[in-house]
Amino acid sequence: LPVDVLSLVRKETPDMGEAVLDKNENPFSPPPALVEELRGRMASIPLNRYPDPTHESLREALGSFAGYPAGCVSVGNGGDEILSMLFSAFVSPGDSVLTLSPCFSQYGHLCRVQGARHVTVALGAAEKCFELDGELFLDTMARCSPKLILIDRPNNPTGCSVPLEMLRRIIDMSPCEVVVDEAYVDFGPDSVLDLYGPDSIPDNLLVLRTFSKAWGLAAIRLGWGVSSRRVVSRLEDVRSPYNVNCITREVALIALKYRQWHRDTTERIVYTRDRFLESLSGLQGWRAYEGNGNFVFARSPVPWELLDGALRREGFHLRRIPMPDHSDGDWVRISVGREEHMREMLGLLEKM
Ligand code: PMP
Repeated sequence: LPVDVLSLVRKETPDMGEAVLDKNENPFSPPPALVEELRGRMASIPLNRYPDPTHESLREALGSFAGYPAGCVSVGNGGDEILSMLFSAFVSPGDSVLTLSPCFSQYGHLCRVQGARHVTVALGAAEKCFELDGELFLDTMARCSPKLILIDRPNNPTGCSVPLEMLRRIIDMSPCEVVVDEAYVDFGPDSVLDLYGPDSIPDNLLVLRTFSKAWGLAAIRLGWGVSSRRVVSRLEDVRSPYNVNCITREVALIALKYRQWHRDTTERIVYTRDRFLESLSGLQGWRAYEGNGNFVFARSPVPWELLDGALRREGFHLRRIPMPDHSDGDWVRISVGREEHMREMLGLLEKM
């Protein structure tokens, strides 16, 4: 039925292009003034020279943005490269790596590549959102003696944020480095860095950030970490010298001046997310969960193949999420796109 019905649904709006809602990208490009400024800057980049291998100016700018000295900042070719560096620095074959379940898919991939044992603690579905049983996490941590702990906060894909006080306990009691992956931090209420300052950041903590989400710059591939100097130096041991290129550096240095755009866009996405969540929850059979990312996590009453087939024909791309700990139904993660795309998709879902 949904397929037939959908083939009859006519868009009332002119073609808005594909709605790519499966990678948690920002649907808005950075402002034209930023692009214009970059154009001007390009002429003065010495393209025949390697970048400064210490990335000093970039680390200083990022540190000052976060309130930390450059010595506490690492940079990478996307957050993905920093994650790879963390595995190279801290994980050997046979070691345990502890994460939430579900979690960012790259964590499992890196465990496989490194030959590590991937130990997970399942998030539970409460009435409105997913939650971590903190005591279970602490127990598991004590039992499996991990060499690295990765907590995506907000979690990808559920959007839930482990409470700060629980996080503090995990960091305090952890036998190893704890990575708090804040790729989506701008869409939520707080950061683990709120607990600490440059003089009190724990020796075993690394906070991961990226330009790919709220900054709308996934194309430049820039991730960064804030940590103790000890963790920075461990990452320096495994980093390749020119891992961040000059153009990326210049874009980031310019982007950091556009903080109002960053705040406004984030607010707009959060507003759209909350309204979309409310509407989706109202649709028959759908179960949508509150979260702090730029996406909505939900259980679909429509089997995935049907849902995906029907939406793809209309230009919508969603992400199916395997949920081994919750095998009751088909789970999907829907990135928050432009308001008009979300409205149009709700219209399609309503008719299924
Ligand atoms: N962490 C999480 C939780 C993510 O979802 C992503 C990207 N989807 C990343 C890190 C990596 O982002 P990037 O490599 O684009 O910086």
